[in-house]
Amino acid sequence: FHELEKEMTTSHKAHCLILPYPVQGHINPMLQFSKRLQSKRVKITIATTKYLLKNMKELTTSVSIEAISDGYDDGGRDQAESFVAYVTRFKEVGSDTLSQLIQKLANSGCPVNCIVYDPYLNWAVEVAKKFGLVSAAFFTQNCVVDNIYYHVHKGVIKFPPTQNDKEIIIPGFSSPIDASDVPSFVISPEAERIIEMMVNQFSNLDKVDWVLINSFYELEKEVIDWMSKIYPIKTIGPTIPSMYLDKRLHDDKEYGLSIFKPMTNECLNWLNHQPISSVLYVSFGSLAKLETEQMEELAWSLKNSNKSFLWVVRSTEESKLPKNFIEELKLTSGNNKGLVVSWCPQLQVLEHESIGCFLTHCGWNSTLEAISLGVPMVTMPQWTDQPTNAKLVKDVWEIGVRAKQDEKGIVRREIIEECIKLVMEEEEGKLIRENAKKWKEMARNVADEGGSSDKNIEEFVSKLVTIS
Ligand code: UDP
Repeated sequence: FHELEKEMTTSHKAHCLILPYPVQGHINPMLQFSKRLQSKRVKITIATTKYLLKNMKELTTSVSIEAISDGYDDGGRDQAESFVAYVTRFKEVGSDTLSQLIQKLANSGCPVNCIVYDPYLNWAVEVAKKFGLVSAAFFTQNCVVDNIYYHVHKGVIKFPPTQNDKEIIIPGFSSPIDASDVPSFVISPEAERIIEMMVNQFSNLDKVDWVLINSFYELEKEVIDWMSKIYPIKTIGPTIPSMYLDKRLHDDKEYGLSIFKPMTNECLNWLNHQPISSVLYVSFGSLAKLETEQMEELAWSLKNSNKSFLWVVRSTEESKLPKNFIEELKLTSGNNKGLVVSWCPQLQVLEHESIGCFLTHCGWNSTLEAISLGVPMVTMPQWTDQPTNAKLVKDVWEIGVRAKQDEKGIVRREIIEECIKLVMEEEEGKLIRENAKKWKEMARNVADEGGSSDKNIEEFVSKLVTIS
């Protein structure tokens, strides 16, 4: 074992320090990218916060992990007054503790050559420069969303938009974007400080060696070609474990780093008893908080629909369910109507043959996972980039429909029911179901040897070796 370990250490081509923003949806794609690099003999160290490392519920990855401080070692992000306060404090404390980590790793026999950082933490570029390291920004969102923020940064899209801006045309993307399709931070005047942070992702981007994007070329050709003229872009997605795509990385079925504990057996046993393509999977990801009224509408729509459903309701959201909802569900489980869990192994669920549709908040990871596993969607975007992702799903890739809100901002039960029916049953949804299958094939091809993302990762590694 020691001989093998020694050989692996000495044969590393380079060492990348990976710095994700510490939420599940940013950790997952950066970890998957890390595994791909590791399989190409790049040493990886992921730097995450002390708080998160202490509180991980699942830690089963071969990648090494080290802790740095965000200034909230005891309580984590929730202790910060706001997103902006958190990011500001992380910058103050993180710059020093990241520098200390780089110094520590310098004595480990394989010093760091490159920092791959989340552009929410763009101060990492300064740390990289201080140590003479190369740097890569890793955008966890898709290129259309990045392009929108870029144009807010350049002043092409005004913030907040005026009443007349019903439709926005963005250079690099020919489909007009409705005001309800742009990321929520662009539209909402209360989000003034947040949009500043989003725009700051670009403030020192001219200093980096690469801009990595969690997407793939075939999904967003037009905008990727356009942005590639400005930045050294490389698309490297879909960042989901290899076993769901090209299967070239061994035993790579799990994400491996989770803040939540998945109820694996319960979910999969239940799904095993459901007919093919019969189940609706419902999840709003790791962060979204629904209004109680919305939660009730959703609960009734699921109950009224003639479909079985698997619904992820995080424990912090459970109190918003209608009274006795779960109890009553258990009583009617004779016909396998529904299962509510607090967290599930989402990839294994989406891959399951019983799943026929995904009702999703359209977080970018969830969207990319559904694309990669060929599952059509009903979208109910909540905030941040989700409305834009929902637009792409509906109008550009045609793999889902959007359940529209009323003027109070609530999606009513009848609308949700209609959408579910359309995607899962009706003739009108046939094209959507067929398109979903096509994208699944494409996602596998881009990750496989010679595919667009595989080539980009190869090029990244060979250039890294040359310049570092
Ligand atoms: N996820 C999971 N189990 C669940 C719900 C979500 O493993 O029960 C994972 C999902 O596969 C995805 C991530 O959590 O990788 C959520 O990221 P996304 O970008 O979709 O949404 P966010 O949580 O950032 O809003």
